[in-house]
Amino acid sequence: MSRNPRKGSSYTHNRLIPYYGVAGIRHIGGYLVSGVGGRFKAGIVHLILTHDAEKALSSLAEKYNVDAPRLRVGIPKGHVTVSGCYVLEKETIYVATSDGLADPFLILHEFYHHLRSVSGRHLGTERYADKFAREYINEYRSGSNP
Ligand SMILES: [Zn+2]
Repeated sequence: MSRNPRKGSSYTHNRLIPYYGVAGIRHIGGYLVSGVGGRFKAGIVHLILTHDAEKALSSLAEKYNVDAPRLRVGIPKGHVTVSGCYVLEKETIYVATSDGLADPFLILHEFYHHLRSVSGRHLGTERYADKFAREYINEYRSGSNP
């Protein structure tokens, strides 16, 4: 979460701490989230929790008009200690274990890096990636059930 990117091309994380306690985060760089409703967000979290992260990522990609990132279990060489990472060159989200596939915070956090990178912008900060993930989870937990 607090680790800086290596070579500016990937993000790695030793430990991602779900931040379920924070409510009321509504805006994350405005343009990215405008028009994305609470029910959609809650549905995405539900998909991940029910072990359908691939479908969640394809739905997210469609919503934001980007290609879906690939998703792989197993961290590539050089990142052996992390719980997840996003590698720009491969447009791939890696999670360390299959448990990570059902972790909404992890999947959404990494998707944010994908979204910012394929949008031709900076990969995005860890802080914004956390906020992005939190906003989705908050919608799920606030009862915007799909
Ligand atoms: Zn990150």
